[in-house]
Amino acid sequence: MHIDTITTITSPDLDWQQEALCAQTGADFFFPEPGSSVREAKRICGMCPIRSACLEYALDNDERFGVWGGLSEKERLELRRTAR
Ligand code: SF4
Repeated sequence: MHIDTITTITSPDLDWQQEALCAQTGADFFFPEPGSSVREAKRICGMCPIRSACLEYALDNDERFGVWGGLSEKERLELRRTAR
């Protein structure tokens, strides 16, 4: 979950997003330029208390861009493929 999205989602079912570490760091690490490292985003996700909920949300909502729940776009795509 990223700070831009947090401000646009108001559902009470998404209260878990208030604990998002990326909301404190800003979205830049999580949406790097193509070919840039996602290492720092993954490091932050690794410390985030809502990592599982975040990844589940990203998969359920087919989030295509950025790092969510500690996984890159490619890793989420691969997870979807292997889950079928
Ligand atoms: S797991 Fe990562 S992307 Fe998800 S809310 Fe936490 S810091 Fe943000």
